[in-house]
This record gives sequence, C-alpha cells and structure tokens, in this order.
Amino acid sequence: LGPTVTVGEILVEIMATSIGEGFRQPLDLVGPYPSGAPAIFTDQCARIGGSAAIVGAVGADDFGRLNVDRLARDGADVSAIAVVPDYPTGSAFVRYRADGSRDFVYNIATSAAARFGWSEAVATLVAKAGHLHVMGSALSMPSAVAVIDRAVEIVKERGGTLSFDPNLRKELRYDAETERRFSELVAMADLLLPSGEELERAAGVPGREAAIEKLLAMGIPEIALKEGARGASVFTADAEPLHVAAFAVTEVDPTGAGDCFGGAYVACRRLGSGIEEALTYACAAGARNVTVRGPMEGAGTRDELDAFIAATQRAAP
Ligand code: ATP
Repeated sequence: LGPTVTVGEILVEIMATSIGEGFRQPLDLVGPYPSGAPAIFTDQCARIGGSAAIVGAVGADDFGRLNVDRLARDGADVSAIAVVPDYPTGSAFVRYRADGSRDFVYNIATSAAARFGWSEAVATLVAKAGHLHVMGSALSMPSAVAVIDRAVEIVKERGGTLSFDPNLRKELRYDAETERRFSELVAMADLLLPSGEELERAAGVPGREAAIEKLLAMGIPEIALKEGARGASVFTADAEPLHVAAFAVTEVDPTGAGDCFGGAYVACRRLGSGIEEALTYACAAGARNVTVRGPMEGAGTRDELDAFIAATQRAAP
C-alpha cells in the first residue's frame, strides 16, 4: 500500500566516551553521528528492505548533509526532508551514568529540526503512505504534531495502518495538549511499541499484566514490548504471548536500540513476516545496534542481521 512514513526530529548526536554525570569539563566527546529517534527508525526500516521515508528538517550545514546522505545511502526516501536556511541542524549531547541512565542536552526547539510543516513534498509522500509510525519524542514539536495529525487522518482514510512508540523524553517539553494526543495515538494504533514504564503510561494503569490486559481490551491488535537485555514479547488478543530471548552481546552504546527494534519489526511485518520472525529480526537489530558506538551505526541490512543471528547466542532468560 506504500511506504512506511515517520515524522519527527532529525539530529546529530555527540557523546561522552567516559561514564559520569553531566557535561562538565574535562570530557572526551565523539561524534557527530546521525541521530534522532525517527531518523534511526527510518534508517533501520530501510536497511532491512522496507520502503521507508521521513518527514523532518535539517539545517543547510554539514550536520544536515550527514543525516540526509546517510538516510539516502541506506535506501530511505528523503524527498520530504526540508533543508532550512538560517537554523542549524538539531543536536543531542549524551553522557551515560554508571547506573546505565543517560543525561541528554537537546537542541531541538531552537534548531532546524523543529522547523518544518505541511509542504507539497510532504503531501505527495503522505498521499502514497501505507503506514505511519509516530514517536512520542516528536510530540514535543508543534510543527511535527500538526503534520502528524493530518498524516494520521490521510493514512487511516486510505486504509493504511498506524504504529506508535510512546517514547516521551523527560528532557523535552510537551504542552498541555500532549497527554490527550498521546492517549488518542495509543487508542488508534494498530501496533504499539512501548518499553517498560511506557507500557503502563500508555495504558494508564500500574502493573505490566494489567496494562497489557487493558490495552488489548481497548482493541489494540498488537503490542510489541521492548524488554532491553531480556529481549522482547508480543501480545495480541487472540494468541498466546510470544517471547523472544535477547541476543547475548556486550553493550557499548544503548541509544537507538528501541528505534532499530521498531524499524526492523515494522518493516518485517509489512513485508509479510509472521510475529515470531519479525520479533527475531527486531531483537537482532536492537542487539546489534548496541554493540557499536553511535545511535544508528549498528543498524543492519537483512544479510547483516542474518549473519548476526547465525553467529550470536541467545542470552539466558
Ligand atoms: P532506547 O530508548 O535506548 O532506544 P528502548 O528502551 O526503547 O531503547 P530497549 O528495550 O532498550 O528499547 O531495546 C530494544 C530491543 O533491543 C530489546 O527489546 C532487545 O531485543 C534489544 N536490546 C537492547 N539492549 C540490549 C542488550 N543489552 N542486549 C541484547 N539485546 C538488547
């Protein structure tokens, strides 16, 4: 029915190589790497062979070209990425703490990343989209929200499907409308891709079992729950839950695992894979991506993921 389209922030990421708190000097930084959750999703979706496109914006600078060139190289449709003069490409600085949590400093709202709207290129792309993937992080940008609202309507109207990854970020600012829109997206989703606490937030009830039960009772057909180094599970109303164990890897950089998981899962399902096959590729994509530094540097092609699956042991449950 047409490509998988995502709307949202396109960024570069610069990260500290040492573990610690905050960004005080002295600090060794590496990057820039192409980044932004929707961009990572799109890159992985395209690399595994799905037809993928992103709506977003970059500045007329090297950081912007880094992103557009990478996405185009990996087979994504970049026709709806606006190049905005006078604003720099958005950025994210990240440092990992000893407990595995992260400190982010984002430059999104004041950058090119938040400066796009409904254009002829966007209209042309959305008119042929078969699937829309929305990420919670994009809801911090009013420009993205306006495009998402319109795109959801058009894609659903033409019989397309919707997936939602409720990845709200504590560092980003959301307005009063966000909570309502978040609930609406959850209720409309054909596929939900939460991780831990996001599952309970999406359901609005505490406890994993209660949350899953409530979301299925709401009529959400498929929930792919990301469980980090424990793998992932899929829940549907009419079949037993399906769990796939994680691949045993040494984690170098966890950022982007969830986005690669989502990109691979959506691409595989849309290409006709059953749940177990899609879940296996998605877990492989997430695991492979954490073995390399950089948020999308470990995204894999179908061949690379097949080789990874064949060569990598499963983690103990
Ligand atoms: P992020 O916000 O960092 O992108 P997330 O919280 O959305 O990630 P995770 O559950 O961390 O998502 O990762 C997605 C999937 O990637 C997991 O379900 C798992 O299959 C795989 N994965 C992530 N981390 C690891 C790891 N350390 N070892 C093996 N597999 C992993």
